[in-house]
Amino acid sequence: MTEESSIATRLVQVQEKIRSAALRAGRDPESVSLLPVSKTFGEEAIREIVRAGVHRLGENKAQEIRSKYEPLADCGIDWVMIGHLQTNKAKDIARMASEVQSLDRMELAIALDRRLQQEGRAIDTLVQVKTSIEPSKYGLPPDELSAFLRRLVHETPTLRVRGLMTLAINVPSQEAVRACFRTLRELRDRIQDEAIDGIELDRLSMGMSGDFEIAIEEGSTEVRIGTAIFGGRIYGSDYYWPEGKA
Ligand SMILES: *Cc1c(COP(=O)(O)O)cnc(C)c1O
Repeated sequence: MTEESSIATRLVQVQEKIRSAALRAGRDPESVSLLPVSKTFGEEAIREIVRAGVHRLGENKAQEIRSKYEPLADCGIDWVMIGHLQTNKAKDIARMASEVQSLDRMELAIALDRRLQQEGRAIDTLVQVKTSIEPSKYGLPPDELSAFLRRLVHETPTLRVRGLMTLAINVPSQEAVRACFRTLRELRDRIQDEAIDGIELDRLSMGMSGDFEIAIEEGSTEVRIGTAIFGGRIYGSDYYWPEGKA
């Protein structure tokens, strides 16, 4: 099997596993979508997944979206930013990304909004919440979410908040991982009860190659899958959490 055909094959296998996990959890398989994560993979691999019908891809670095944007412009890809975003990269993201899932602070929201206004665009946004006690993890502390959302409604009109995103703790314990996903869902339910005007939290982006079945059991509406589709990367966990404490 060539590297190429194996991406398409693994895509179908992952889609099937998502479907089975949803059914086992008593959920409608249509309620869980897949965001393939193409970080560290190049044009060849991406063109293969585009041929397999994927037009929405996650990336965790602004520089990587920028370097793939032009060469792959003919593919009509919606680029989704899922990684830690520095404020000084807001301009590129406002121009090239269709969505940001890693919004975690007001300074970034304001920078993105200003650039989006200049571009005349508005984008869907998920707020990344920190659901584990790991010191190296990005994300807004859960107890700050309500106030944060209220500020977004008033101050950043180009960011359409659609839901929440989290990364689970990076440990073997399935129960610890599950607790992170459950924390996000329960937080979402509590905030939804507050019925903040202009805020919809229908989407929960949680689950990666190693833990997506647990995430689906806990209510994920979107799993972000890299390795299980594209194959292994040569990077360790410091690539997810670049400040390198992991
Ligand atoms: C890399 C990455 C993923 C996908 O991880 P895999 O383990 O390769 O499936 C998901 N979410 C974020 C934020 C990532 O950086």
